Amino acid sequence: MGLEDKLPEGIVTTTLESLVNWGRANSTWPLLFGLACCAMEMIAASDPRNDIGRYGAEIMRASPRQADLMIVSGRVANKMAPVIKRIYDQMLEPKWVIAMGICASAGGPFNNYAIIQGVDKILPVDVYVPGCPPRPEALLFALDKLRDKQRKETFAQYYRAEAAEPFVRPDDIAPLESLRAKQPA
Ligand code: SF4
Repeated sequence: MGLEDKLPEGIVTTTLESLVNWGRANSTWPLLFGLACCAMEMIAASDPRNDIGRYGAEIMRASPRQADLMIVSGRVANKMAPVIKRIYDQMLEPKWVIAMGICASAGGPFNNYAIIQGVDKILPVDVYVPGCPPRPEALLFALDKLRDKQRKETFAQYYRAEAAEPFVRPDDIAPLESLRAKQPA
């Protein structure tokens, strides 16, 4: 005889961790910003046909302090990298990152000194979305993958994340001029 036989119908048991993860996975609020052409597809994910609201992610926040998901939609220029990093640092834990498109994931067709070859050089990425540009459905699939990850997270992970050294500080990102200087003449 299990516990379920002793409980009246309609009672649900869970752990606090699962309950919190359930809430987080169903109300992940993205930061309101876009970097390049991929941003158009990200915007299209909010239209009635794709309806990102089904994931509880339609509330795009203009302040990093109210957002817990950064969707990097587009190429990351060297000049922009310290700004993105600073905004990421201003988001509260727990927070997640989706690299949307091949530019944000690995530099894409822009293999040159002006573009960071993947945003994971400056901040940790949870889900990568391939494509140039990925369709809105691909972004929704990435949200599904992120939800799988969020459901498995533990509180201990966040303590460790807060105690860890920063991934990269904004000032550590090489300024454009120094990268230009390294280019062969
Ligand atoms: S992946 Fe393609 S669509 Fe997206 S930012 Fe790069 S060039 Fe533009």
